[in-house]
Amino acid sequence: DFSFTPPGRNHLFVPGPVNIHDSVLRAMDRPSLNHRDPWFNAFFKDILEESKMIFKTKEGTTFIFPGTGTGGWEAALTNTLSPGDKVVTFRYGQFSHLWVDMMERLGLDVIVVDRPWGEGADEAKLAEILKADTKKEIKAVAVVHNETTTGVTSDIGQCRQVMDQADHPALLLVDGVSSIGALDFRMDEWGVDVAVTGSQKALSLPTGLAVVAASPKALAARKSAKSKRCYYDFEDMLKTNPGGNVPYTPSIPLLYGLRESLALLKSEGFENVIKRHHRLAEGTRRAVAGWGLKLLCKEPRWNSDSLTVIETPEGIDSGEIVKAAYTRYNLSIGVGLSKVAGKVFRIGHLGNSDEVMMLGAIAGTEMALLDAGVNIEPGSGVKEAIKYWQSTSKVIPTRG
Ligand code: PLP
Repeated sequence: DFSFTPPGRNHLFVPGPVNIHDSVLRAMDRPSLNHRDPWFNAFFKDILEESKMIFKTKEGTTFIFPGTGTGGWEAALTNTLSPGDKVVTFRYGQFSHLWVDMMERLGLDVIVVDRPWGEGADEAKLAEILKADTKKEIKAVAVVHNETTTGVTSDIGQCRQVMDQADHPALLLVDGVSSIGALDFRMDEWGVDVAVTGSQKALSLPTGLAVVAASPKALAARKSAKSKRCYYDFEDMLKTNPGGNVPYTPSIPLLYGLRESLALLKSEGFENVIKRHHRLAEGTRRAVAGWGLKLLCKEPRWNSDSLTVIETPEGIDSGEIVKAAYTRYNLSIGVGLSKVAGKVFRIGHLGNSDEVMMLGAIAGTEMALLDAGVNIEPGSGVKEAIKYWQSTSKVIPTRG
């Protein structure tokens, strides 16, 4: 029913799509422009170059595909692998599950390591599998960095170490859809071969772009990779992008938005962006502790700084909390997906966000928890978050 628009605003705290900065909205507000006119080349080349920042890559090549994170997965797999190739991967949530499904549908021979939901990549198990692969038949290790179903961030650096210790030549393919641009992601240092994100996550843009980075090793692999590919073929991009051209019509508003979003992250200082995500996440986790509730994430080393996933007490349907938040307070928080539907809810804190915004989300969630019959003390979460944020906040650089 669109006959009534509530006053105020929709308070958006799902782990993607996320809040779009006003200056990004303004930057996207453009008439249509011709991408075949000469202005486009320098504009596009600059965006490809600037986008390397969020991957922390100098050696990698970035690609901006119209599409979403899922399209980025397809690009990562089809450009580097052939049907029948062995791939090892972990499944610990709905997104890692869907990636396995795609791998299987593309005809890859997938070795799935199932993990309890709430846990991350098991490096010891990976070491065991790679060591046993004496003929080096495994062609890729595929890992979801931040599992958005469970609020678990796996340790990609450790996965790389294990691969190096086993002296294994497999490619390392990483889904960074809900991490890249928010968390510390070190493509070159970790030897990641293809990394993928989507515009509606940490980049805080509308949905519609898959931003992908590929290492020189991944680009070399495409020459022998026999998977069928067309729209997401690196080749067509590599033929055109160096001259600042594209193989098909780009979304000009989204590219203007991406340029502005990258400029905002750069002006904040990308290391500060990472620290901000940690602070917002830590305050949110303290609020959860203040409520007396538990995280789904089973070990602090896997705590996600992109989103917090909270278990609801026995007998409470988490969907009721999410419903109360939306219907009574115009607050959007995330439902539990698949296996954890009804059992958890999710609060996103990635992308364009700050302490006061998060306090709104936490306060609104408290009201929704009370509405759903969860026995919490009003203000108990807000209080803990305030204590943490007030005592750790710094003066905004330009306002000192
Ligand atoms: N991978 C992760 C970790 C995600 O969180 C998502 C979406 O939420 C996806 C992949 C799929 O991305 P998209 O919906 O942009 O295709």
